[in-house]
Amino acid sequence: MKNEEFQNNREKDRAEEEIINQAFQELLNDYLASKHRKRVEIIIKAFNFAKQAHKGIKRRSGEPYILHPIAVAKIVCNEIGLGSTSICAALLHDVVEDTDYTIEDIENIFGPRIALIVDGLTKISGGIFGDRASAQAENFKKLLLTMSNDIRVILIKIADRLHNMRTLGSMLPNKQYKIAGETLYIYAPLANRLGLYKIKTELENLSFRYEHPEEYKVLESKLAETAAERDKVFTEFTAPIRMQLDRMGLKYRILARVKSIYSIWKKMQTKHLPFEEIFDILAVRIIFEPHSAEEELNDCFGIYVAITKIYKPHPDRLRDWISHPKANGYQALHVTLMSNRGQWIEVQIRSERMNDVAEQGFAAHWKYKEGGGSEDEGELEKWLQTIKEILEDPQPDAMDFLDTIKLNLFASEIFVFTPKGDLKTMPQHATALDFAFSLHTDIGSHCIGAKVNHKLVPLSHKLESGDQVEILTSKAQRVQPEWANYVTTARARSKITSILRKEAKVCQKEGEQRWEEFMQQMELTANEENLNKLLKLHHLKSREEFFTLVGSGKINLGETDLNALKEKSTSGWKKLLSFSFGLKEKEDGAEKETEKEEGHGATGEEAERINTKEILKLTEESIAKNYIMADCCHPIPGDDVLGYLDENGRVIIHKRQCPVAARLKSSFGNRIIATEWDTHKELSFLVTIFIKGIDCVGLLNEVTQIISRQLNVNIRKLSIESSDGIFEGRIQLYVHDVEDVRTICKNLKGIQQIKQVTRVED
Ligand code: MN
Repeated sequence: MKNEEFQNNREKDRAEEEIINQAFQELLNDYLASKHRKRVEIIIKAFNFAKQAHKGIKRRSGEPYILHPIAVAKIVCNEIGLGSTSICAALLHDVVEDTDYTIEDIENIFGPRIALIVDGLTKISGGIFGDRASAQAENFKKLLLTMSNDIRVILIKIADRLHNMRTLGSMLPNKQYKIAGETLYIYAPLANRLGLYKIKTELENLSFRYEHPEEYKVLESKLAETAAERDKVFTEFTAPIRMQLDRMGLKYRILARVKSIYSIWKKMQTKHLPFEEIFDILAVRIIFEPHSAEEELNDCFGIYVAITKIYKPHPDRLRDWISHPKANGYQALHVTLMSNRGQWIEVQIRSERMNDVAEQGFAAHWKYKEGGGSEDEGELEKWLQTIKEILEDPQPDAMDFLDTIKLNLFASEIFVFTPKGDLKTMPQHATALDFAFSLHTDIGSHCIGAKVNHKLVPLSHKLESGDQVEILTSKAQRVQPEWANYVTTARARSKITSILRKEAKVCQKEGEQRWEEFMQQMELTANEENLNKLLKLHHLKSREEFFTLVGSGKINLGETDLNALKEKSTSGWKKLLSFSFGLKEKEDGAEKETEKEEGHGATGEEAERINTKEILKLTEESIAKNYIMADCCHPIPGDDVLGYLDENGRVIIHKRQCPVAARLKSSFGNRIIATEWDTHKELSFLVTIFIKGIDCVGLLNEVTQIISRQLNVNIRKLSIESSDGIFEGRIQLYVHDVEDVRTICKNLKGIQQIKQVTRVED
C-alpha cells in the first residue's frame, strides 16, 4: 500500500516537472520569436533559480508555485512586449518576498538592474498586498508613480496582477472581492494610462465578474444571444468596405470589436439605459499594412475617404488620434458611419503598428525601431523613459485619475517603507530622524542613525520616495541640541525641544541636589559665595550651567572642588596635576633632551627652579591651583603635557607635541614647567575619536554598545557617513583620561569591520 502511494507520488512529481518544463519552453519560444536580443542564457538561469527557490510550494489552486512566475513572464513577453531583463525580473518577482533569498543574492547572481526591479516589486508586494491592501490603496496609487524610477516595476506588477486575476477563481470569496476591487481601482486605470488597452479591458472584465457575478452572467448571456445578429450586421456592413479596400490594393484585416461586458455595464449605469438600447456594442476595426512607413498616414485617410463614400459619416464623431496621438501613444482614426439598417457603427482605422501600440502600449514601439533585433538596452531605456515622462507630466485629459493625483499631491509628500514593508507617508524633505520620530518618540530619541536601502546614513539624511528605512537605536543615545537642525517636521522638532527642556530641568535639579549633598558631607555651607568659587574653578558663568553639568555627570564634585572651596587648607587633597620645579625623581629623558636642544641655560633644573620661582614670586601651592587647559590642543589627563607659566601666574597646560607649546619652549624656555598628571577620575574631558571601516548591518549598534559599556563615558555627538560601503564616523566623548580613550580604541578595534580607530588631535 505504502509503496503504491510512493509510486503515485513519484509519478505525480514527474508529471508536475513535465508541466513546468513545458510552460517554460513555451515562454522561451515566445521570447525567441520576439524581436529582442536572444539572451536565452540569463532567462534559463532565472528560471532555474526561481524554480529551485519555490520548490515544493503550491498555489491555492494546487499548482506548483513556479507556474505563476512563468505565466507572469509570459504576459510580460507576449502581451506587454518586454525583453530579457523584464522576463528575468518577472520569473524572480516573488523570490525575495516568499523565500529566504535576499535582494543581495539576486544582485550577486543577476546583476544590479534585475535586482533593482525585483526589489521594487518586493517593496510594492510587501507593503500593499498584505491585509491592509485596500486601506492603503490611495497611498499605493501615489507610490506607484513616485516609484517609477524603473517603469518596468509597474509593467511587471500589472502582469502579475493580470495573472492573479485570471486565476482568482481558486481564492476565497472575501479575498476575491478585495483583489477585484483593488484591480478596478488601481491597476485597470494604470494599464489604461500606460496604453495597455487589452490588459485594461481584461482586468476590468475580470474584476466585474467577481464583484457582480450575477450581472456579469446576465450580460454575458445577453451578449451570446445577440451574437448571431451582430455577426450578420458585421458581414453585411463590411462587405462593401472589403471590396473598396481590395480595389485600393491594401493588405488588411477587419475585426468585429465587441464592447466589453464591463464597458456595457458601465454605460448602462451612467446613462441609465437597458442593454437593448446600447447601440455601440459592435464596432468595426480595420487594421491595415501601409504601402510603406511613409504612406501610413495617407493610407489611413485614404481608407477614411473611401468608406465615407459608402456610408454617411456622423458629422461630429470623427476622432483624429493620428495627427494628435493620445498621451499614452494611442493612434487611430475613429469615424461613426450610418449602416444601411439605419444604425450608427463606429469604425476604427489603424495600421498594424498603431494596433500593436494600442494593445501593448509603449512597449510596442520597441518592435518598430530601426535595426530589428539588435537593439541595445539604451534604446529600451529611451522608451521606458518616455513612459516615465508621461507619468511625470500628464496631459490635461481630466478623466485620468493619475493626472489629478500627480498634480496635487506629489509636490508635498514622499512614500517610504519600514523594513517590514509598511508604507509611510512623510512630508517632502523629511530626514531619517523625522522618520524615527514619526514611528515613536522613543525610537526618535534613541536614534543613532538609519539604514536607507541597506546603507548606513546619518540622522540628517534626506529621504526619498520608495526608500526603505530602518532606524538604528541605542539605549545609550540621548537627544542632542543640534538635532533640531536635522529635522524638518514640526512633530519631531517639538519632541526634541521638549525632551531637551525636560532633561535640562531634571539635570539641573539633580545637580543642585548633588551640590547640596556634597556641601553637607564636607560640612560646608551651600551658599552663593561657595558656589561662585566653583563656577570660577570650572570656568562657568551661570549656576544653571554648573548644576546641569553636575547633574549630567560631566562634573563630578570632588577633591579639586573641595580645595577651591577651602582656599587655605593644604592637607589631604589630591591634585589634578603636579608641577615639578626641581629635579624629578624619575628621569624624564625626553623632556631633558628637549630642554638641552633649546639650549636654555642648561645649568641644571635646580637653577631653573629658583629662577622661575623668584621671577614670579610664586609658591608651588598657588601655581598648583591656578592652571588652565590650552584651547589649542585640549589636553586630557594622561596626555604628555607641559605647563607654561604666563605673566599672570597661571599655568597653561599644553600637549607636548602642540605646535603652540613648541613655540613657547623655544621663546620662553624658562617659563616652561614640567608637568605630570595625578591619577584621578573626577573631571570629564571632551575628545574626538575617528573610526573608519566597512559598512554592515549592526555595526553602528556595536560601536555604541562598546562605548556605553565603558564606565562613566558619555557620547556627546556621533556623526556618520557612509558611501560605497565605506563607513566613516566621528565620535565626541566625555572621558576622564587617556586610559579611557585607549580602552575604547582598543575595544573598537576589536570589531572586525572597523579598520581604523584614531583619536583626533586638534
Ligand atoms: Mn506574484
